[in-house]
Amino acid sequence: MSKTFEKLQPFLDKAMAIETARSLFEWDDQTMAPFEAADYTSKVVGILSDEYMKCLINDDVRRLLKKLKEDKEQEELTDKEKAIIKKLDKIYEQLESIPPEEFKAFNELTIVAGRAWNKAKKDNNYEYFAPYLKKIIEYKKKFAGYRVKKGQKPYEVLLGDFDECFGIKELDIFFDKIKKEIIPLLKQISKKSDDIDKSYNFLTYDVEKQKKFCKYLSGYLGFDFNKGVIAESAHPFTLNLHNHDVRITNHFKENNLESAIFSVIHETGHALYEMNIDDSLTQTLVGTGTSMGMHESQSRLFENIIGRSEEFWTPIYSKLVETYPENMKNISLEQFIKGINKSEPGLIRTEADELSYPLHIIIRYEIEKAIFSGEVDVDNLPDLWNRKYQEYLGLTPTNDSEGILQDIHWSFGEFGYFPSYAIGSAISSQLYAKIKDVMPVNDYLKEGNITPIREFLRDNIHKYGATKNTTQLLKDVTGEDFNADYYVEYLKDKFEKLYGL
Ligand code: ZN
Repeated sequence: MSKTFEKLQPFLDKAMAIETARSLFEWDDQTMAPFEAADYTSKVVGILSDEYMKCLINDDVRRLLKKLKEDKEQEELTDKEKAIIKKLDKIYEQLESIPPEEFKAFNELTIVAGRAWNKAKKDNNYEYFAPYLKKIIEYKKKFAGYRVKKGQKPYEVLLGDFDECFGIKELDIFFDKIKKEIIPLLKQISKKSDDIDKSYNFLTYDVEKQKKFCKYLSGYLGFDFNKGVIAESAHPFTLNLHNHDVRITNHFKENNLESAIFSVIHETGHALYEMNIDDSLTQTLVGTGTSMGMHESQSRLFENIIGRSEEFWTPIYSKLVETYPENMKNISLEQFIKGINKSEPGLIRTEADELSYPLHIIIRYEIEKAIFSGEVDVDNLPDLWNRKYQEYLGLTPTNDSEGILQDIHWSFGEFGYFPSYAIGSAISSQLYAKIKDVMPVNDYLKEGNITPIREFLRDNIHKYGATKNTTQLLKDVTGEDFNADYYVEYLKDKFEKLYGL
């Protein structure tokens, strides 16, 4: 370790400790904390966040960072240290450019905007939320303006915060491909949607039994209960304190068997990523997944490509039938596989099937792009939203709650986040093509052997944490840059077969 980096270390250690404590409150708030704790917890969380920033953003660290960026110092650093410096530099770039009073005002605004969004969604009243959204967008434009580089568009600054490897150019190419190939396929399939009967899925399924089965599934995939726990929350999520303490949640619906099953597979995919990060990176700035897109690729690989395949269910389907004999004894594995892959375009992103999902993302991406290039006014957003849903999915929302108001993200200023979901799906297809090349993956799945797949992901993706970016990881493991053709091929192949087209 270089002398200069050694001086930086205590600041980083303290910051990580504070961040771990803050995350634990966040976890508690969403799982176990009593209702009345929220206001007080948010105050504690506010102070901890502030302390975290003070640990990282101060004159001592600024001076050390400047020195560590010099060529001579860089030569002495390990790859891990270089990655940490790069990450720290990015934090400085994000925060130092914004005047503190504006940053504080923005954070306060997001709290009231979040409440306004909740009320607007409940009352189905976009006009109530619109003034808050206008202010949020003004701030985001201003903040992006402080950081925009020559030749860059403000929206690209926001996209870059979630994945430095994907700008407007890359996403336009990616999404145009999807639109060209998937919209016509979806139209063909929607005429045949009655062909698949999945009414069994909406019978009554005892929740305690669901919990037991989902815990079994998570362990089956490799979730390590010595390094992780599973709890319940309104919306499933993964939170990692570090690679030896990874927490996931699930939710259970008595009249929907699939919901909890695929949520737990999805979150387990996220958890495996975090649990398999190398111990040399534990509680460092790079001891976590490298990007939202890469993270989603891991969860979606398990949820969709593996978890919805016949090979995956072959060895364990009988266990599900035994859990619910009354409901499932007459449902063959073949019918179950058709059921869990059934495609029906809908209005709600979080309930979308695998095939129509990317179109929900494209709509949000195109709208965000239009917002930040000034092509659309906040007042006209519902109209634009509804038109795009009609055009891409053949459906028009009957109200704004199931339209423009459905996602929480914009209320706390998260623009540029949605593409990560689609990038993740595409990466998972590209990775899976490689996995198929190097091992008899279908045989392993039929034998109930997940280990080779998990080890492949650990050795090629997980262990590196955030020391490599999305493109570097992809290139090192597949020998190629990001290539959406794998995703389009995968979707076409799967759904044409499923619907006999
Ligand atoms: Zn996810």
